[in-house]
Amino acid sequence: MSTASRSSLVDTFHRSVDYVRIAVTSQCNLRCSYCMSEAHEERATALSLLSKVEIVTIMKVLASLGVTKVRFTGGEPLLRKDIAELVGEAKKNSAITTVGLTTNGLLLDRTLPALIDAGIDAINFSIDTLDRQKYHTITRRDEYHRVRENLDKLLDTEHIAVKLNVVLMRDINSDEISRFVDFTRDHAITLRFMELQPFDDNQIWRTGRFLSADKIQELLNAHYPDLQTLTGSATEYFSYTLPGHKGSIALIPAFTRNFCSKCNKIRITSDGKIISCLYDKKGLDLLPLLRSNASDQALVNLFRKAVEQKPEDGKHSARNAVRTSMSEIGG
Ligand code: SAM
Ligand code: SF4
Repeated sequence: MSTASRSSLVDTFHRSVDYVRIAVTSQCNLRCSYCMSEAHEERATALSLLSKVEIVTIMKVLASLGVTKVRFTGGEPLLRKDIAELVGEAKKNSAITTVGLTTNGLLLDRTLPALIDAGIDAINFSIDTLDRQKYHTITRRDEYHRVRENLDKLLDTEHIAVKLNVVLMRDINSDEISRFVDFTRDHAITLRFMELQPFDDNQIWRTGRFLSADKIQELLNAHYPDLQTLTGSATEYFSYTLPGHKGSIALIPAFTRNFCSKCNKIRITSDGKIISCLYDKKGLDLLPLLRSNASDQALVNLFRKAVEQKPEDGKHSARNAVRTSMSEIGG
């Protein structure tokens, strides 16, 4: 690769991109009501789904442009039979320092050993309730017990940075805050309470279930007067711990706050589109280049073009439209 392509990816508003989220499938084994309809159709067809070799090429080119962090997501990434191999390939690239994935955990019992062998650094585990019936209602699948057992396995695993993703919804799971906070007592995890976002085939967004981060904070303060503030990362806007707890609690105000000024990521969809902004609907298509033996430089140029198109403020950019499902781009 030429030296010209080795400089970092910086957009028009001087933000550096060093993080890529790759959706390795848009298929899912759950049907979370805030994410997809029961009839959700896969975005990628067998033909358009990125192959392992193509994902490895994408990671190689992005690493040469200064990307150091890769997260595999979906859909449900553990549905990919080669997910551990993908993690291993990412770890082989010395420029990539952190490899993580975001999962609903349902298949973790059969994939965790291989992921550990492959060197996975971080796992975000999504679980919105600790009640079997509610889990069935939220995900439309009766899989609570298996998921919960897998969570316990993960919590017992050392050397993986674990985050629990909990989308808090009014009168659905908002009464479970303290049950989730209990996990932070003995485990050095980050518990992330996330705001619902309007990417849900318009199903529950309009039903009054939205709970703002401010409201979540009020509920937390009411339960825990001794909450101690930590300095959060860009998206973990509010970060806390409790005396004697090993883990931390973060609030992710994804809807009510705007993180655009600190945005350092791009996303790749399972059918090979570069999405430079969460709110960008179309993206730029990598497949024609990947499937015509185009040079790495041609891929570099497309990534640069995508990053140049990153809007200053995606949420309020007129050219962007609301998505129907987060599973299209992996959250
Ligand atoms: N299937 C995996 C999982 O659930 O972890 C990875 C993909 S999922 C799209 C990634 C994250 O997005 C999950 O934590 C999920 O809860 C979150 N998510 C999906 N739709 C959402 C919505 N409408 N609002 C807020 N978070 C959402
Ligand atoms: Fe599947 Fe994750 Fe969407 Fe739930 S949030 S339906 S587990 S992709």
